[in-house]
Amino acid sequence: GPAGRRPLLAGNWKMHTLPGEAAELAAAVRQGLEGQALSAEVVLCPPFTSLAAAGQALAGSPIALGAQDLVWGEFGAFTGAISAPMLRELGCRYVIVGHSERRQLLGETDALIQRKLEAALAGGLTPILCVGEDAAQRREGRTAAVVLGQVAFALAGLEPGQAAQVVIAYEPVWAIGSGTPATPGDAQAVAAAIRQLVARLHGPAAAAAVRVLYGGSVKPDNIAGFMAQPDVDGALVGGASLDGAAFARLVREG
Ligand code: PGA
Repeated sequence: GPAGRRPLLAGNWKMHTLPGEAAELAAAVRQGLEGQALSAEVVLCPPFTSLAAAGQALAGSPIALGAQDLVWGEFGAFTGAISAPMLRELGCRYVIVGHSERRQLLGETDALIQRKLEAALAGGLTPILCVGEDAAQRREGRTAAVVLGQVAFALAGLEPGQAAQVVIAYEPVWAIGSGTPATPGDAQAVAAAIRQLVARLHGPAAAAAVRVLYGGSVKPDNIAGFMAQPDVDGALVGGASLDGAAFARLVREG
């Protein structure tokens, strides 16, 4: 468990839900957590077109809203793009940046992800930066090199105060949607290495503040093992966040 850091449990809905379904799912999570004293911060991340509906269903609740991507911090001539002020107006406080599906399927580079991270911070959103090795990289013993390289690229240019605000989600690609999570011990080892890197880049205060999540096949019955790790401050949850009752149970178990 975290040392003075508020745990964070985020649901990544990916490319699921129409607005009506999003309202129902958000309401189900809200209902499942009604009356609970939440030790963790809970964030739901619907697709852009469902943000307004989910936000309305969460209004007045302690559950926060996040987006799954953004491009620039300001308005401008950029067809198809979504900026931080648009997301903030809909009530978003968080935004996922650099998810492996975008890296792999849409060719997002470390340089683009770094710019998105800076756009999020400049635009008043807390970025959830996703990093992680794929199966081949793990087999080749390159997990630490890949993950720390991604983190260093994204964070190197930030001020220490900005780095402290970033949430880093360690999501091994082979664990995402596979039903085979990393072991809590492996998640802890990588999370600790990420924190040491933040200390080298931005100093001990930033390293102590930064929240590191684990993601990849997190379920209600395995969340506790991850939360028990000293450097794991929560989880980014895909599949298990699409069932409101299950996600509420996951939050209660965490
Ligand atoms: P999963 O997805 O929980 O379905 O494995 C996690 C993620 O991609 O963020």
